[in-house]
Amino acid sequence: MTNHTITSIREGLRAKQFSAVEVAREALEFAERENPKTNAYLMFCPERALSAAAEVDRKLAAGEDAGALAGVPIAVKDVILTKGVRTTCASKMLENYIPPYDATAIERIEAAGGVIIGKTNCDEFAMGSSNENSYFGPVRNPVALDCVPGGSSGGSAAVVAQGTAVVSLGSDTGGSIRQPASFCGVVGVTPTYGRVSRYGLVAFASSLDHIGPFARNVKDSATLLAAMAGRDPMDSTSANAPVPDYGAQLTGDVRGMKIGLPVEYMKHATGETADRIHEAVAKLQGMGCEVQDISLPSTDYAIATYYVICTAEASANLARFDGVRYGYRSAEAGGADSNKLAAMYCNTRGEGFGPEVKRRIMLGTYVLSHGYYDAYYLKAQKVRALIARDFTNAFQTVDAIMAPVSPFPAFRIGEKVNDPVSMYLSDIYTITGSLAGIPCMSVPCGTTGTGLPVGLQILCNHFEEQKMFRLAHAFENS
Ligand code: GLN
Repeated sequence: MTNHTITSIREGLRAKQFSAVEVAREALEFAERENPKTNAYLMFCPERALSAAAEVDRKLAAGEDAGALAGVPIAVKDVILTKGVRTTCASKMLENYIPPYDATAIERIEAAGGVIIGKTNCDEFAMGSSNENSYFGPVRNPVALDCVPGGSSGGSAAVVAQGTAVVSLGSDTGGSIRQPASFCGVVGVTPTYGRVSRYGLVAFASSLDHIGPFARNVKDSATLLAAMAGRDPMDSTSANAPVPDYGAQLTGDVRGMKIGLPVEYMKHATGETADRIHEAVAKLQGMGCEVQDISLPSTDYAIATYYVICTAEASANLARFDGVRYGYRSAEAGGADSNKLAAMYCNTRGEGFGPEVKRRIMLGTYVLSHGYYDAYYLKAQKVRALIARDFTNAFQTVDAIMAPVSPFPAFRIGEKVNDPVSMYLSDIYTITGSLAGIPCMSVPCGTTGTGLPVGLQILCNHFEEQKMFRLAHAFENS
């Protein structure tokens, strides 16, 4: 499994070197054997995988089109609903939740022949930057087992790095695809907001949530994104824009493309991370790109803005977990009398949510409360508009912006756990793109002296994923 790509599986199936069922069996066996090293998978779904693979084999035998993802073993972050397969959001609250429907992204992947083999660990309800907030224990970085894989989609990055899936799905609200991709040395893509339907993605902060791919190369990430993207009547924020043929854009020719380096980011970037970014940009310059400094003046306000908006939305979204309709209910639940009802809510939420989720619900409730709404939430929305405008202005003069993904590479498990503010501050380079809703990705650009991967972040204007993929692919092949 470790060397397979979407292309190699397609070619192997065509040449009858293996069947889709054989690939699925091998993938499941390998993943189950390797998983104790990283704790990246929370569960496997062999029945679903084998029946999807059998359908691919049937189509191939009948000479039908088996789809762009035919026979490809895929892992899915456990915040994306899979019908009949437990979906926990890495929370005690949903420990035994079995969804009655599939997310649109899942339906489309399976319609394209993809074989979903399991669900991956993550920070609880996708809140975190290290995957240490999971009720089911942290994930280890396959590149350095004493380090975090990043978060919140740490499991999805780890399985691709470890070779226990060919590609995977993550979700990104403020960096949760790009940052773990960077920490684990794989490609991770956050598409334009609305590019992929959020139907069936458990909501954290709805105006910021994205589903996106992880892969071991740019082409696979583009193929997986294309299979999921496009308008979905079940998500009114999904975009009606046509989905381009991303693969056709991977020409290797980047001559004349203009790259902007934000001075506000680069002045803080230090050490080996900054070195790798400068080297990467120099390489692209050598391939014919033009490089210039740009300014994103509202950057200083990004962290505060993001943590007001995302906690506000989280406090509203997570109100549904009340012990009544689904999910965990406290054993201390009372009967019909109103004191007991209140105790049921309190005990259920007190016992079902972990500390980071509670912290965010409290922060979010506070910034939305009467008297503080204008001072915090409304102000944050205004600053969000300024941050988005910075990007709009920058894209008048450049095709793409390049930056680090994270100020530092993967850190040791436990190192930052007791300092949530320093954890929040580490999201500085990723949350601006999320707030603006623009496509952004992380592509591996080398390692530190100790062998920890560093990711180059590429950001483009709304719906310009093609440009982003073209640059990333050209860089990858250099
Ligand atoms: N690290 C950020 C946070 O904790 C981003 C999370 C995400 O993108 N889901 O909110």
